[in-house]
Amino acid sequence: TEQTLGQLAEESWNRFDDHESVFYEGVWHRSHTLAERARRMCGGFAEAGVRPGDRVVVMMATCPEVPLIYQALWAAGAVVTPVVFLVGPEELRHILTDSGASAIVTSPELVGTVRATGIEIPTFVDTTDLERASERGPVTRDPGDLAALMYTGGTTGRAKGVMLSHRGLWQVAKDAYEISHQEGKNRGLVPVPLSHAYGLIISVAGMHARDPQQAVLMRWFEPKAFLNLAAEQHVQYGTVVPSMIRLLLAEPLESHPLPDLAYLTCGAAPLGRQTLEEFERRMPGVQILEGYGLTETSAVTTFNPPGRRRAGSVGLPLAGYTITIRDNEGEAVEAGDVGEVCVSGESLMLGYWGEHEPDPEGTALVGTELRTGDIGCVDDDGYLYIVDRKKDLIIRGGFNVFPRDVEDALDRHPAVVMSGVVGRPDPRHGEEVVAFVQLKPGAQVTAEELIAWARDRVGRVKYPREVRFVDAVPVTSVLKLDRKALRARLG
Ligand code: ATP
Repeated sequence: TEQTLGQLAEESWNRFDDHESVFYEGVWHRSHTLAERARRMCGGFAEAGVRPGDRVVVMMATCPEVPLIYQALWAAGAVVTPVVFLVGPEELRHILTDSGASAIVTSPELVGTVRATGIEIPTFVDTTDLERASERGPVTRDPGDLAALMYTGGTTGRAKGVMLSHRGLWQVAKDAYEISHQEGKNRGLVPVPLSHAYGLIISVAGMHARDPQQAVLMRWFEPKAFLNLAAEQHVQYGTVVPSMIRLLLAEPLESHPLPDLAYLTCGAAPLGRQTLEEFERRMPGVQILEGYGLTETSAVTTFNPPGRRRAGSVGLPLAGYTITIRDNEGEAVEAGDVGEVCVSGESLMLGYWGEHEPDPEGTALVGTELRTGDIGCVDDDGYLYIVDRKKDLIIRGGFNVFPRDVEDALDRHPAVVMSGVVGRPDPRHGEEVVAFVQLKPGAQVTAEELIAWARDRVGRVKYPREVRFVDAVPVTSVLKLDRKALRARLG
C-alpha cells in the first residue's frame, strides 16, 4: 500500500533493533538514537510553526543530520527543498523567493550566505534547538501531495523547482532499492551530496530497507579518502558518479584492494564503456551498475540489474516508468533507432513550480510525458543507451558532433584523467570543437599528440582542432562536467 514519506519514516524508526547505522568522521551513530533525534526534530519544526505544505530549505553539507531533517520535515508534512551548500547568495535568494520558503535549516559556516541574500527568514542553525522539543510522529498527508521541491537547470536562465510527490519519491526509491539491492550487502559508502536528487533518493531508499542498513557518509568526495574509508569500514557497495570513477582511476588502485566491495551504482552523467571496463579490470570483484535519471524522475529512470547488466547501457526502466524514443517530429522510432528519450509514468514529477519560459533544447513536460533533452536509443530487450544531450550537441560545418564521443576518445589516452569538449563559435564552420584536458600528475603529452590520438579514433570531422590543458576540468557540485564553465573559459 502507498505511504507518505512521513509514514515511511516513522516505520523505519521502529523497524529494527538498535544497531550502528551511520558512520561519519570517525564515529558510528546508532539507529535508535538517530530515530529519537528525528522525532524530536519533527516536534521542533511543528513547535516553531512549520505547517503542512510549507517549503523548508535545507542547506547543509552531508552529515548524519541531513537525512533526519528530511524525515522530520516529511513527518511534519512540510516540503523539503534541499540546496547544495556551495551555492552563493544570488542563487539562494532566487530559490528562497521562488519557493516562498518559510524557513531554512543550515550550519554555522553557511549563515553568512543566508544573511547575504538580504532575505529575513526564520533560520535554524544546526538541529540543536529543534532537538530540544518533545518527540512527534507524522501528520496526515496525501501520497499525491508535494514532498520535495528540487531546484535544477540553470543552464538556460534561472533554476526551476521540480515538484516531487510523496508517491513519486516513494515509488522510485522502492523500485530502485528492489532492483539494486543485493542480499547481505547492507553497508554502503555515500560520497554523493545528499542535496541532489541522487542523494535524496538514497535517503528515501534507506527508509525502505528490509535489513538494517549501514551508511558511511562522506562530506566531500576525495579519491584517497574514498579508498581508505572503503577499506577501513569494509563497505560492500558505493554510490558514485562518473567523474569519481575517473578520479579513482588516476590512483594506484592495485595497492588498495577492496575485497568487501561488491558493486558501485553510478549515474548522473555519461560513464563510457571503456572507463567502466578499465575500472573493473583494475578493481577485480567490483561491478559497476549504471543507471540514468533526472531530477524530474526522482533521480532514477533506468538501472542495470546486477545479474543482467549490459556494459555501456544505462539499464532497464524502473517498474513505474515507460520510455519512448521519439524523432524530431515526435513520432516513436523503432528499436535501435536514435532519438529523444521521453519518459512517462506515475512517478514523474508533478510539474515545475510557478511560471517558466519553455526551454526548446532542454527538459520539458509535454502532456503527461517528460521530454528529457537526452538523445539515445533502446535495444530489442529494452535496455537504454544514452548518446548525448541535445543542448550539448556541436554542429561543425553541418556535421553533428557529440562531445561525449570526443571525450570518450580522449579519456582513453593513458595520460588523461578527464576531458571536456565544447563548441567555440567559428566564422567558417559555425562551431569548432575544443577540448579541455586534465592530465595525470607527471604525465607528458603534447596537444598535437592528443589531437592526433583523437583524430585516429573519431575521424576527420569530429576531432578537436584545439586542446587546452587545465589543472582540473571544472565540475558542478555533484561532480558533473561543467560545460557552462568551460564555454565561459573559451573567452
Ligand atoms: P543542468 O540543467 O543544470 O545541467 P541537469 O540537467 O544535469 O542540470 P539533473 O536532473 O541533475 O539536471 O540531471 C539529469 C541529466 O543528467 C539527464 O538529463 C542526463 O543528461 C544526465 N544523465 C544522468 N544519468 C546519466 C547517465 N547514466 N548517462 C548519461 N547521462 C546521464
